[in-house]
Amino acid sequence: MSKKYSAEIICVGTELLLGDILNTNTRFLSKELASIGINVYHQSVVGDNYERLADSVRLALSRADIIITSGGLGPTYDDITKETVCEIMGSELVMDEEVKNTIVGFFQRMGRKMTDNNFKQALVPVDGVALHNENGTAPGIMINKNNKLVFMLPGPPRELEALYKAKVYPVLSSLDSGNILFSKNINIFGMGESAVEDALKNIMKTSLNPTVAPYAKDGEVLLRVTASAPDKASAESLADKAISDIASVVGDCIYGIDGESLQNVLVKRFSEKGLTISTAESCTGGLVSKRITEIPGSSSIFGCGICSYSNETKMNVLGVKKETLESFGAVSAQTAEEMAAGVQSLSGSDVSVAITGIAGPDGGTDEKPVGLVYISARYKDKVLTERFVFGRSKNEREYIRFLASSWALAMALKITDSFSPAFHE
Ligand code: AMP
Ligand code: MG
Repeated sequence: MSKKYSAEIICVGTELLLGDILNTNTRFLSKELASIGINVYHQSVVGDNYERLADSVRLALSRADIIITSGGLGPTYDDITKETVCEIMGSELVMDEEVKNTIVGFFQRMGRKMTDNNFKQALVPVDGVALHNENGTAPGIMINKNNKLVFMLPGPPRELEALYKAKVYPVLSSLDSGNILFSKNINIFGMGESAVEDALKNIMKTSLNPTVAPYAKDGEVLLRVTASAPDKASAESLADKAISDIASVVGDCIYGIDGESLQNVLVKRFSEKGLTISTAESCTGGLVSKRITEIPGSSSIFGCGICSYSNETKMNVLGVKKETLESFGAVSAQTAEEMAAGVQSLSGSDVSVAITGIAGPDGGTDEKPVGLVYISARYKDKVLTERFVFGRSKNEREYIRFLASSWALAMALKITDSFSPAFHE
């Protein structure tokens, strides 16, 4: 009989509560557990404090089948995870000669002197198992008792991740937990989070399997579609069916499935189509070319990037007409179009994008406020020019520049008809 297992993750460390380090262990463990169909209903973080840790462990034991702790297994006095958990579980700690020899050997190899407190790491519960840690001195611990499966893992992510894969995953993945969870992410650009929710409210409300959840980030929306099924192929086909329902509503704004980033998708699509691109940037100062060229393989699609900040460069290098700058100004649709045409003929690229705008905080007027940006994209003789006002206040220089660069990438995808869902991925 298969059973649906639930797990709880407890990360131990005052540095986590203080915000000094990012809790990547919870993220890692949660993703791993989800991928093998184990539900994580609670995650907690607790400092290096006996009472509060004991409370968290008791609570976790009262409501989860599997408990995984991270941190607090080191040699110092504030590392108390093993002692606390074992006390609550009634598991006596004894010196494990094998672990002790491993630790002695580790210090000899490193040429370091051992102190007495290092032996603390060789204490193992009599009814538990030490999980050998290849990357550090503190072994992990597993206790399987009273229908609870408890794993204690070291805090450093390199050690925790390796130990999970080597010793924990084989145990957990062999539990007969019935279903697995499978997720796909839909990348949406050009629609805000609330607009996406509004357009998809029927699908989101009625769909329990898969579940559909939006996440907003840096001007984009990620829709996570998570399906649960006995095997990966069935879960994937449930997810794909929901993705095609979603695409029938917001397909215009989908630039990829698990697409990572606009620049990633752009480099991929342009490579597939054999297209090249060049950029002419004013207020973004090269951000679009930076984003494209950070992707491996971009050399085959990227021609050149001109950072044409001054009017002289716009005229002398890109061939923007003096009259255009005088009549319409540097921040205008006409200038953006001439910049795009200029860099296209200079580079011979199939596609070009140009950006001109006011990133602030100074330089805005009533007629041309901070955040005003014109972007023009060209593909052969096709031209697409848009006017935007980005940002909510004039002190969002970086945000305005980033959004402008995202729109430039999106418009380059749009004008080449590359901005569409790719179900074949
Ligand atoms: P500990 O085993 O508690 O001594 O932790 C050792 C180190 O591991 C800490 O100083 C952190 O740098 C790191 N660490 C501990 N917990 C976490 C966590 N949840 N996520 C990421 N790193 C962690
Ligand atoms: Mg610690």
